[in-house]
Amino acid sequence: MRIVCVGGGPAGLYFAICAKQRDPSHEITVMERDPAGSTHGWGVVYWEQLIDIMYRNDPVGAQAVHDASTLWQEQRLTIGARTAYMPGHGYGIQRSVLLDLFTRRARELGVQLRHRQEMADAAELQALCAENDLVVAADGGRSRVRRLAGPDAFGTRLEEGSNPYIWLGTDQRFTDFRFAFERTEHGWIWFHSYPSAADGGTCVFECASTTWAGLGLDRLDDAAGRELLETIFARQLAGHHLLGGDGGRDATRPAHWQRFTHVGNRSWRHDNIVLIGDAAHTTHFTFGSGTALAMMDAVMLARFLRQHDGDVPAALTEFDRSGRLAVGRVQAHARRGSDWFERMDDLLDRELASPDSEQDGPDPMTVAMAMGSRHGGGIQPLRRHVLRSNQVPAVRRVYREASTGTRWLRDRRRARELARVG
Ligand SMILES: Cc1cc2nc3c(=O)[nH]c(=O)nc-3n(C[C@H](O)[C@H](O)[C@H](O)COP(=O)(O)OP(=O)(O)OC[C@H]3O[C@@H](n4cnc5c(N)ncnc54)[C@H](O)[C@@H]3O)c2cc1C
Repeated sequence: MRIVCVGGGPAGLYFAICAKQRDPSHEITVMERDPAGSTHGWGVVYWEQLIDIMYRNDPVGAQAVHDASTLWQEQRLTIGARTAYMPGHGYGIQRSVLLDLFTRRARELGVQLRHRQEMADAAELQALCAENDLVVAADGGRSRVRRLAGPDAFGTRLEEGSNPYIWLGTDQRFTDFRFAFERTEHGWIWFHSYPSAADGGTCVFECASTTWAGLGLDRLDDAAGRELLETIFARQLAGHHLLGGDGGRDATRPAHWQRFTHVGNRSWRHDNIVLIGDAAHTTHFTFGSGTALAMMDAVMLARFLRQHDGDVPAALTEFDRSGRLAVGRVQAHARRGSDWFERMDDLLDRELASPDSEQDGPDPMTVAMAMGSRHGGGIQPLRRHVLRSNQVPAVRRVYREASTGTRWLRDRRRARELARVG
């Protein structure tokens, strides 16, 4: 089967890997507009579940991703000078490193990679559809393929969030996942951060539009904007710097403030074109799962193509139905979370404040509890108990030991999987 993937992000590359693994006779080309090794964005977090999925699909590639990732074993939420500790662990990896590993793995498996090749217009899309059995649109949230296929092709819904955000790096070596909130005279501003490399991490800053404009972040250039954020968050960054640029590789493409686009589609298929990853659906970055979902689409599509043995329409019908069913619930969940962050000033100044709230804001424990239930369902008594006990350092050590133990068992099982494929 001849397949072309438009877009060499996590979705396009991982699909190419999974499809080639299942059927080496496929001729797969990935066209990516950026040069090899260049990407937007800094690090991403992911969870144990994704490692298991990767080991089941491509143990060799999974091991490389696992080895290049940085583990964090604690979450903290800081408001001004006060902190609440939340249990939990996960992994961070630089997006550029992840894509390099996938690129290398795809090449090893015989995928053709064409960098600096942009799918430009409707005529080119038509030609791709005619020359290939399948066109995989993995070209991100602003998918050009989706747009060029026609206004009704996928029934696309786009909605822009109201908070501006910026995706930056830092040379601060955080060892944990952190939410930090600071009150300014123009309103609240916050970031979440995580280690994504041995020598640094990723910080995503967000605030209400009014705060953004009030602070002048809408007018400051890249360097001045970062300097202002460094000043506001001096307590957290402790003299370290924020890094702009293109994931650290291309200083000519500075990171910039954006608004998140919620993407939904009534259908993920049209003729022999299929949408995967952000082109099909986005989930807000505070949910930390867009990359994982993009890779799960990739696995699912490759699996249905194999199961239907080259019957593209049958495979796409099944992928469309199963994929939308699986992602719909997750998207709704993530959406409740992003709505929660868009009400942040109201939450911190009114709903979660108490008469004894300090100058720099409400009690971080109250906010941590509310954050834990931001996706709906309220906070369970058990979780409340775990959170409270987790403020005691000795208890945190016990949780950490327990999580190290379960990770050790998982890693042993994964090593056996790797040994099995030689
Ligand atoms: C601030 C922020 C933080 C995030 N943090 C996390 C996180 O912690 N964990 C997580 O799981 N997810 C996170 N995400 C989400 C994640 O980045 C996306 O969900 C993921 O990148 C989607 O992968 P994709 O391959 O579908 O799209 P993309 O990664 O956007 O890749 C699309 C590719 O297509 C290429 N392309 C576009 N148009 C064309 C064209 N016309 N021709 C050729 N190539 C083209 C682009 O150059 C790009 O390489 C975050 C997102 C943001 C914005």
